[in-house]
Amino acid sequence: MTGDAIRIEGLRKTYAGGKEALKGVDLSIPTGSIFGLLGPNGAGKSTLINILAGLVLKTSGKVDIWGWDQDRNPRQSRAAIGVMPQELNLDPFFTPRGALEVQAGLYGVPKAERRSDEILRMIGLEDKADAYARTLSGGMRRRLLLGKALVHHPHILVLDEPTAGVDIELRQMLWKNVRKLNRERGMTIILTTHYLEEAEEMCDEIAIINQGAVVARDSTSNLLGQLDAKTMVITPEAPPMELPQAAGISSEMRDGGLIALSYNAGETSAEDVLALLHGAGIRIRDVRTEQADLEDVFLELTRSRPAA
Ligand code: ADP
Ligand code: MG
Repeated sequence: MTGDAIRIEGLRKTYAGGKEALKGVDLSIPTGSIFGLLGPNGAGKSTLINILAGLVLKTSGKVDIWGWDQDRNPRQSRAAIGVMPQELNLDPFFTPRGALEVQAGLYGVPKAERRSDEILRMIGLEDKADAYARTLSGGMRRRLLLGKALVHHPHILVLDEPTAGVDIELRQMLWKNVRKLNRERGMTIILTTHYLEEAEEMCDEIAIINQGAVVARDSTSNLLGQLDAKTMVITPEAPPMELPQAAGISSEMRDGGLIALSYNAGETSAEDVLALLHGAGIRIRDVRTEQADLEDVFLELTRSRPAA
């Protein structure tokens, strides 16, 4: 398949009770990419993922998965996608092998085409193949969820916050597997996260979603270029007569007589900021810097760009 693995147009979801979780999302996800859906808690990431997975019914809009319209070809569109959900939803009385077999059965994968052993190996659960799920550690259960998402050999793998609250080892194992599936099988990967670094490290392209709307969508490198916002916060020896001004540096007073100078680290250096202060005769008693966090980035993006 060339072009887009997923195409979403005008997607809306209002939950019973009136919560508008998605407010008209348009989004295309290129085939073969590792695509990050980034956003704070409550942004609507899981809602979007669960609609793709067929677990949540959309209110309106159009969703194409692997070229199949979700409403007109529900079976084909479901078969194209495997989802590792955010919540652990395993039956405690199944063993890993049993859980994979049942899942394969649900997707109508014939016995001869099942790859339970291969999947167990990949997720590192060969030793636990026949242990009850309730005896598995949290990390093992997560790995099993990944395995379940793969039983029907989907073209598209979706991981909803796969690393929230997991240890470093599991995180690395997950990323290794995900990269491998992407590289060796050309699987399109979609992952949601609220960790900026994670999206940065893993994804070719990123959409940022906030309050049910896509506020930015770009290649990771283009987006990161906009994320260089830094702030230097100064405690001056004496309150200045006026705030120093310079191109590329915006300054404001903060409570307690602090001066906050914001600049883009890609264009302006800390030295430029210090020189500005020096030139304005402001002596520094104390200084600290603030990196833009995701919150700032959202604010910045929602201010400077119309919702896509
Ligand atoms: P995210 O995954 O980005 O944290 P969600 O998609 O889980 O966000 O939630 C988006 C919004 O929809 C939140 O305000 C959440 O409380 C609400 N929400 C999610 N699921 C339901 C539901 N089943 N019923 C009502 N509201 C929901
Ligand atoms: Mg979520």
